[in-house]
Amino acid sequence: MAGIYFHIPFCKQACHYCNFHFSTSLRYKEEMVRAMLCELEARQSYLLPDEPLSSIYFGGGTPSLLAESDLMAFFEAIHRHFRLSPNAEITLEANPDDLKPEKLAALRRSPVNRLSIGIQSFSEEDLRFFNRAHNAREARQCLSLARDAGFEDLTIDLIYGSPTTDHTQWAENLGIVLEHEVPHLSCYALTVEPRTALDHFIKKGKAPAVDEEQAARQFDYLISTTQAAGYEQYEISNFALPGRYAVHNSNYWTGVPYLGIGPSAHSFDGESRQWNVANNAKYLKAVRSGHPLDEAEGLLYEREALSAEDRYNEYVMTGLRTKWGVQLDKISRLGPAFQQHFLRYAAPLIAAGKLERQGDTFFLPPGSRFMADGIAAELFW
Ligand code: SF4
Repeated sequence: MAGIYFHIPFCKQACHYCNFHFSTSLRYKEEMVRAMLCELEARQSYLLPDEPLSSIYFGGGTPSLLAESDLMAFFEAIHRHFRLSPNAEITLEANPDDLKPEKLAALRRSPVNRLSIGIQSFSEEDLRFFNRAHNAREARQCLSLARDAGFEDLTIDLIYGSPTTDHTQWAENLGIVLEHEVPHLSCYALTVEPRTALDHFIKKGKAPAVDEEQAARQFDYLISTTQAAGYEQYEISNFALPGRYAVHNSNYWTGVPYLGIGPSAHSFDGESRQWNVANNAKYLKAVRSGHPLDEAEGLLYEREALSAEDRYNEYVMTGLRTKWGVQLDKISRLGPAFQQHFLRYAAPLIAAGKLERQGDTFFLPPGSRFMADGIAAELFW
């Protein structure tokens, strides 16, 4: 089954660590919605006809800035052009400051059945350091408000490893999540991306650098605490109570095709990846130009056909990050040279205890998970 991702490229303010694509000017929001509907219609044949959709995901940016009428326009278009599986997961990313009772009621009237809430922390100091638009009170309140509105399927994002997050605060953040029995949790180490405000502040000495060892200790605490509470770490950064894996995320990791709509959105058809221009003005201009969008290569999007080497590297990277691991038969389908390469470079990692083998499946043991990307790189083609 396939999925659709909508990138809503607007935010109220810029978080200091963020390198996603968004604009803090909402001036073109209405036109953007119309342009995205136009792209959706023009690219409906990107996915196989009649293939039911198992996941719709509104990400960004801040999709909770969408008006109810905008959201309903997306669903009308989805129903017109695609077939939605009856139990499709329909997720909308929301920021705590947007989740007022009226907003939640409007979301409940829509087909959205899952909220992904960008809480990041329950500490005022962390939230100020991150330059989030919400405060600690809103971070706590939104969980109860979402439940009161009838949203049971919730996932929240938390950030660890910030210089402002000591062990006590990290333990408190996780304690609040467990107290609310949030069924799904995504946790990310604070990463200093180039050209972000955080990068600038650290270089100028206005903010302390991120301490990798502190982040590693908080990651270990995260794993032990969530495991004791019955969560499964089914991907390095993702934790779920039984039966509550995210369909959207799992689709990405298992190579399911998806169509990405909006500026900077990525798409995957099983053979190639393509990514839309990460610029609102250029995106609107490309759509306004009236060219058939599937001929707008270079104007609206770039495309890359995946070579066998790309597929191998992607599979090793995503496989090692998940509980499903890397399976030898999937690698051998790419050709015997890939299997030989993998086994040759896996052997020293196994000997060093950084990689485990069970039959023909390879996993990262808990102690290696924090270094997942570096270990995958050692196995790359
Ligand atoms: S709300 Fe999300 S997308 Fe927007 S700036 Fe903050 S982290 Fe980035």
